[in-house]
Amino acid sequence: MRIAMIGTGYVGLTTGVCYSEMGHSVICADIDEEKIRQLQQNHCPIYEPGLKELIIKNSSKGNLSFTTDIEAAVNFSDIIMIAVGTPSLPDGSVDMSFIDEVAHKIGQSIKDYKVIVNKSTVPVGSADRVRKIVQSYIKTPFDVASVPEFLREGSAVKDVLNGERIVIGIDSEKAKDILIKVHEPFQIPIQVTDIRSAELIKYAANSFLAMKISFINEIANLAEKVGADVLEVAKGIGSDSRIGERFLNAGIGFGGACFPKDTLGIINIAEQVGHDFKIMKEVINVNRKQYMRIIEHLNAVYPNLYGKTVSILGLSFKPNTNDLREAPSIKIINDLVKNTNGNIRIRVYDPISMDEARGVLPEIVKYCYSVEEAIVDSDAAIIVTEWKEIVEQDWKNLSRIMKTAVIIDGRNCLEGMDDDSITYLGIGRKNYK
Ligand code: NAD
Repeated sequence: MRIAMIGTGYVGLTTGVCYSEMGHSVICADIDEEKIRQLQQNHCPIYEPGLKELIIKNSSKGNLSFTTDIEAAVNFSDIIMIAVGTPSLPDGSVDMSFIDEVAHKIGQSIKDYKVIVNKSTVPVGSADRVRKIVQSYIKTPFDVASVPEFLREGSAVKDVLNGERIVIGIDSEKAKDILIKVHEPFQIPIQVTDIRSAELIKYAANSFLAMKISFINEIANLAEKVGADVLEVAKGIGSDSRIGERFLNAGIGFGGACFPKDTLGIINIAEQVGHDFKIMKEVINVNRKQYMRIIEHLNAVYPNLYGKTVSILGLSFKPNTNDLREAPSIKIINDLVKNTNGNIRIRVYDPISMDEARGVLPEIVKYCYSVEEAIVDSDAAIIVTEWKEIVEQDWKNLSRIMKTAVIIDGRNCLEGMDDDSITYLGIGRKNYK
């Protein structure tokens, strides 16, 4: 089938490429000319394992192409998927301006029957909103559907090709048959449902996962106070299949482009219908404060941070991505600078996102090109992102090059740090010194 993917960011690019890998003919369209130019030359504008290889493979097969001409993409396709951003507005509601813009463009462009699919995470009722906009331009019949995306940055290709479910929200038999045909090659269980349920499924899924993270972080904070170890507690509760062991890693909280905005989004969706979603408000409150555990640990070792050298290891909001949106690293660094009036030395290292970081971190930061360079003669090393390269260092030996071997592990990713010469502080761990 022929698919137009409008919006070629993390979701549009990855899913577009994966649909082409399934044998569909895909044209990815974006208003960002530089991005499209790079893609046309087989350069991948984001860091995502396995994506570049699939771009090269499917472009050369003729299954995949890139354009800035949205009208041409719309007319080429049987199915138009919308995968533009839906960021939060300052009041927590969802900014629908990108979706609206695309819907207007589709309305101005289509000439015959199409299935228009919302792949972006959009509030309940958004399919009706898109339908109304498109209808204002044409009399030709078309259908609108919701096929939310569940990929995770850092494992996006794997997630799309081996997902646990595909949700198709639809209200027409014709569009249902088309969308089932499109998704069958993935050989992933398909849940066909009504459009509003599909729209809510995406917010409910992200909200539940965010809630799991805030819950275990609160258990970690409690564990420290009562002398328990959150890793043991997580193991003990996670082995109960009703709870499940995944997403019980205590740390410094969630970031990224999805959980922070989708938790705000569901609260706003609820408010629109007079429902006070209290539990999600608390999930967000816990998360807003959680990164400060790093500063608290640091202050416990150094009540006065003036003149100290602190190394930040990992900047992206999670490993295997260069995405810095809502990354805890930024908040930690900004707080350290603010609390010391700039009288602190901060060194940073991230395997992939250094270029992105230059635009967002304060000028005082020194960029280093290895873990070693970042921690030599430093007073404290803070692990913010659990990149494999950072976790797999021989920390017992490596920490000897620090001025003082203080390691603060914001992701509880190091093991066996029970060495008298090292001060190791995890989150909710039985800390060693
Ligand atoms: P993104 O910011 O990476 O990409 C959005 C793209 O849309 C950009 O390339 C932008 O140039 C393009 N765009 C904006 N206006 C356009 C227009 N009028 N016409 C064509 N292109 C336009 O966003 P993303 O992270 O891919 O997220 C997209 C949607 O998918 C969001 O709703 C998000 O919540 C959802 N989602 C994201 C993830 C994730 O991990 N990033 C996972 C699941 C769902």
